[in-house]
Amino acid sequence: MTRCPECGALAHTHSCEELFHTVLALDHSRRPPWGPLHGVTVSCFLLQHPSRLPAPRRLPCWEILHTYLGEGVFATARLTERSRRANSHRNAGSAPADTVPDVPTPSATPSPTSFSVTITDVAQDGTFPADGFPERVTAWAKATVTAWRALVIA
Ligand SMILES: [Zn+2]
Repeated sequence: MTRCPECGALAHTHSCEELFHTVLALDHSRRPPWGPLHGVTVSCFLLQHPSRLPAPRRLPCWEILHTYLGEGVFATARLTERSRRANSHRNAGSAPADTVPDVPTPSATPSPTSFSVTITDVAQDGTFPADGFPERVTAWAKATVTAWRALVIA
C-alpha cells in the first residue's frame, strides 16, 4: 500500500488522481449534493495537492474554503460566480486580489503533507456516496485549513 506524497492518504483501490476525476464528473452533473459543492471540492483537492497549484493561485481556493466554513454554501456560490466573472473580464493587473482578513495565505513552502481528512475519506468506497457527502466535504475543508494554518502560523 502506498501513501500519496502530498496529502498522505493511503491509496487503497484508487489513487487521489482517480478519485478527483470521479468527483469532478459528479460535480459536472450539477446534481446536488455534488454540483453545489464543486468549488469547495476543487479547493480542498488542490490545497491538499499543492504541486498542482502555484502559490499565487492558492488565495482564491483559500478564500472559498473560509467562506464555505464561515458562511456556508450559498455565500461560496456567490464568491465563485464573482471570481468567474472577474476572470472573464480581467484587465491586466487591474483586479485587486481579495483578501481574507486575519488569515495567512498558504503561499509558504513547504506545504503540509498530512491531513486528518483526505479525498479517500470523502470518497468512501470510491463513489462519493450522496448520503453524508456535504458533512464529509465540511470535514475535508476543515482538515485542509487546519493543516495549512498550523504551517503558516508556526
Ligand atoms: Zn493525495
